[in-house]
Amino acid sequence: MRKPMVAGNWKMNGDIVTNEHLFTAIRGGLERASIAQVDVVVCPPYPYLGQAAAWLNDTGVVLGAQNLCSQPNGAFTGEVSATMLSDLGCGWVIIGHSERRTILGEDDELVARKVEIALAEGLGVIVCVGESLQERDAGVTEAVLGRQVDAFCALAGGAAAERFVVAYEPVWAIGTGKTASPEMAQAAHAFIRARLASGGVGHAADIRILYGGSVKANNASSLFGMPDIDGGLIGGASLVADDFLNICRAAQAA
Ligand code: PEP
Repeated sequence: MRKPMVAGNWKMNGDIVTNEHLFTAIRGGLERASIAQVDVVVCPPYPYLGQAAAWLNDTGVVLGAQNLCSQPNGAFTGEVSATMLSDLGCGWVIIGHSERRTILGEDDELVARKVEIALAEGLGVIVCVGESLQERDAGVTEAVLGRQVDAFCALAGGAAAERFVVAYEPVWAIGTGKTASPEMAQAAHAFIRARLASGGVGHAADIRILYGGSVKANNASSLFGMPDIDGGLIGGASLVADDFLNICRAAQAA
């Protein structure tokens, strides 16, 4: 039985004052939300991890980061290590988000190195995969997903299922308001799970696969109702407390 997860990716949004409003609203809403069966993760920008830890530490919400350095320490100006994230109380880290792959040039090899160092530190990983619109239109979605999954299969095989999460995020659905239909997303999730299994991940059936891409309170239930969709990685809607909590409720109900 896979426990659903809802992870909020704040991206490069927020400031001390607006965060405080959001944390207050999330805290207040959590008590009424009845989401005990959902792993809820919030991933603010690095500078606000300490602020988030202080606001959320007694709520059951787990802190996550949006990225980390592939190196353990040293002369890497501007980078943040896995150990630093642990120090700040992070339980999770998002790796290989499409914005980092496409805008910042991260490739499959770098994504795998980041996964390896995060797992070695004891962090849980949310590893993102997904095809662009051109790739979907060209009929190569499975080839792209297969290549991306193959790059971290061995690491998934060696990690505990509870700490290894894959997020399927079709690039064309991120921040665009276009959502994959539940059937389309389910097909991709089933493919990813099968690829993990054929790549030697013995516990592929236990690994959570989240859907991400314009998940909102009004479409979450239909997506989370699909058999291989185990929750969501939420961008824009995670910045609105009621929307985020309603998405968590949908995961609980699924
Ligand atoms: C994301 O950033 O991972 C994401 C899914 O964004 P949005 O929900 O805004 O599409």
